[in-house]
Amino acid sequence: MSFPQGQYPRATVGQYFRDIYDTLHGVVVGMKITLRYIFIKPVTVNYPEQRLSFAPRYRGIHEFEQSKCIACDLCAKACPVDCIYIEKTAPRRIDKVSGLVDESDPKNGKMIRFAIDYSKCLFCALCTEPCPTDCIHMGKLHDLSGYSRADTVVEFSELDKKGLHTPIPLWMERNKDTIPWVAAEHARVSSGILAGNGGDIPKV
Ligand code: SF4
Ligand code: SF4
Repeated sequence: MSFPQGQYPRATVGQYFRDIYDTLHGVVVGMKITLRYIFIKPVTVNYPEQRLSFAPRYRGIHEFEQSKCIACDLCAKACPVDCIYIEKTAPRRIDKVSGLVDESDPKNGKMIRFAIDYSKCLFCALCTEPCPTDCIHMGKLHDLSGYSRADTVVEFSELDKKGLHTPIPLWMERNKDTIPWVAAEHARVSSGILAGNGGDIPKV
């Protein structure tokens, strides 16, 4: 409906008081909800200052021991979404004495790339089951953030050159000097200590 310029219908007295009532009623209803929740214990925590504990078999970002990997591709074949990328010059063999692949042995192939695309990974742990050398595990870190889609692909062979089995998340780098548990986790990850394979599917 259109009205001549500057002329609008006047609200009736009843409408005026109804508007006031509706406004106050909305405020009261909103405050009742606020008061109901204000005394309930929050379900969220102030991460990373506080953290929740995970289940023992929690499956996080993988931990990969390249020194034990024979490049057999069994993990990649088991992966239901094809998100493990392996490039090698030839298969590799474990040295029976050291239990590791002897990189100086010319009969052993070189691992060129071992990468996992976390934009596809389901964290199903099916890749850990067929590994004959038990060198790929589900880790405990869950919060790997980045600024691009490319950041979701973790190049484990590049990490291995730095002595790492799993990536160090940005938040961990930023908070390691101020939060004690982050400092402990950072020390563990940067020294290449595994979190344990509690998240792996047990061998049958
Ligand atoms: S956890 Fe599952 S989806 Fe992720 S790499 Fe392993 S097999 Fe593939
Ligand atoms: S199954 Fe194990 S040994 Fe074989 S390529 Fe995968 S991680 Fe390496």
